[in-house]
Amino acid sequence: MKMMNKILFYLYRSILNNINDTSLSLKLEYRFGLINADGSPKTCKYCGCNEFNETVTDRIEGIVLEKNSFCSNCNKLSGYWVTGAWMP
Ligand SMILES: [Zn+2]
Repeated sequence: MKMMNKILFYLYRSILNNINDTSLSLKLEYRFGLINADGSPKTCKYCGCNEFNETVTDRIEGIVLEKNSFCSNCNKLSGYWVTGAWMP
């Protein structure tokens, strides 16, 4: 990854870590290009990768209740989905 991107992602993470407001945090992640309009992960905020693997963490009678999205490159958690919505 380019040096510039490393600095950029570091900045994004430090900004996001200091925000406790869920909707503001989602808006910023979208502006940074880290998530899609529906809140699903778009770009890994650690390495810039665009591929993710989803792991279902909870389901009832076959219906998915919770799932996590991990970066397929660095394996860091990039998204958390619960009952129909992506969380920051
Ligand atoms: Zn990554």
